[in-house]
Amino acid sequence: MTSYYLIYAIMTMLEGILFEDCGMEPPNFKLKNDKYRKARGGEAHLLDIYCVQCNGHLMKYQKDGKGQLMRCYLNRIFHPPALERLQYTIAYLKQMSNLVCLSCSTVIGTPMVYDDGRLAFRLRKGFYSKKRAD
Ligand SMILES: [Zn+2]
Repeated sequence: MTSYYLIYAIMTMLEGILFEDCGMEPPNFKLKNDKYRKARGGEAHLLDIYCVQCNGHLMKYQKDGKGQLMRCYLNRIFHPPALERLQYTIAYLKQMSNLVCLSCSTVIGTPMVYDDGRLAFRLRKGFYSKKRAD
């Protein structure tokens, strides 16, 4: 039990060193092509999402289809690892917390469940900006 948590802690630390602290780009992100993407017409692209308050990078996110970015589904977050892994570790709404900027602590999004059953962060208008990453 203890060793499991120790390994987990070390891996989390390494991810931080590799991808965040050194500012290194993580490996190429391969966009997901599944029923959710098909339901949005098949088009998808990668976005960088930033905090408006401090300009800090919040995440790399796969946006399916056209139209406004209203929410971030957990299964579309590619980076950072701490957010990417939520899709595997969070099973229901009550386990989620707000999406918070790590640099300035601004709340960017709040937990929600979409019609198709997916967990997501409902984004607060005016608190984030986005840029195509591909
Ligand atoms: Zn911020």
